[in-house]
Amino acid sequence: MSGCVDLHAHSTASDGSAAPGDVVAAARAAGLEAIALTDHDTVDGVAAARAAGLALGIDVVAGVELSASEGEQEVHILGLQLRDLRYLEPALADFRAARTARAAAMVGALNAAGVPVTLDAVLVHAAGGAVGRPHVARALIAGGWVRDVRDAFRQYIGLGGPGYVAKPRLAVAEAAELVHGAGGVAVYAHPGRDGTVARVRSLADQGIDGVEVLHPSHSAEDVARLGAIADAMGLVRSGGSDWHGAREGTRTLGCMAVPAVWNAEQDARAERYRGARERASA
Ligand code: MN
Ligand code: MN
Ligand code: MN
Repeated sequence: MSGCVDLHAHSTASDGSAAPGDVVAAARAAGLEAIALTDHDTVDGVAAARAAGLALGIDVVAGVELSASEGEQEVHILGLQLRDLRYLEPALADFRAARTARAAAMVGALNAAGVPVTLDAVLVHAAGGAVGRPHVARALIAGGWVRDVRDAFRQYIGLGGPGYVAKPRLAVAEAAELVHGAGGVAVYAHPGRDGTVARVRSLADQGIDGVEVLHPSHSAEDVARLGAIADAMGLVRSGGSDWHGAREGTRTLGCMAVPAVWNAEQDARAERYRGARERASA
């Protein structure tokens, strides 16, 4: 794994099962040079990860994963190579509050539909991290109202279901501006088959700097296509395991063997967003 990095991992700061320091220890055990912590809507794990990184001699890249809207579709945007975490914090706190408000509204709608699930039961499954529909689904399973997650979405919380509440929307351009303001690069996360030339061009026009080429969900064809699109459009490449902790057997930290040079190229690209702010404050 020498010369490799992993630029997509979650900790207990969001929906991962390993504490930030343990994510870094796992990265060290996998022989990685650097690890990016990219929790959903929070950078709260970064300080602890950095401290572990210093002790273990592994670079920790500050990151975050945001949910944004592109037309009717949800797209995930990774903020990587972040410098100014305090700049991000008010917006991230708003996103987390909006997630909780949405969960509460879904619980209200489910109660009205005759399902007496509680917000506390939902939040137990989120375990202090960014709450989402999968956590509502798990509460519905635990209460015996549905058999599984698919059933929960089909019967209750999928689009048009009695417990469905639309998510507040963050435009891709807003997500990119937020990341740039913090001195980082914005990367289109796990595009998969949706990552067509037209889609990537649209996101690039809205400020996206890069494409996550290597991801466990990608086919060999996705990897080849996304790499070619990134090169043709002058975008940086990224990749990672999207690790959520030991419970996920097949996605191990470092499994995508992402070249360390991609990390360096991202950092170089991020310089264009740092200069003006740092000169202004000098
Ligand atoms: Mn997640
Ligand atoms: Mn994602
Ligand atoms: Mn992720």
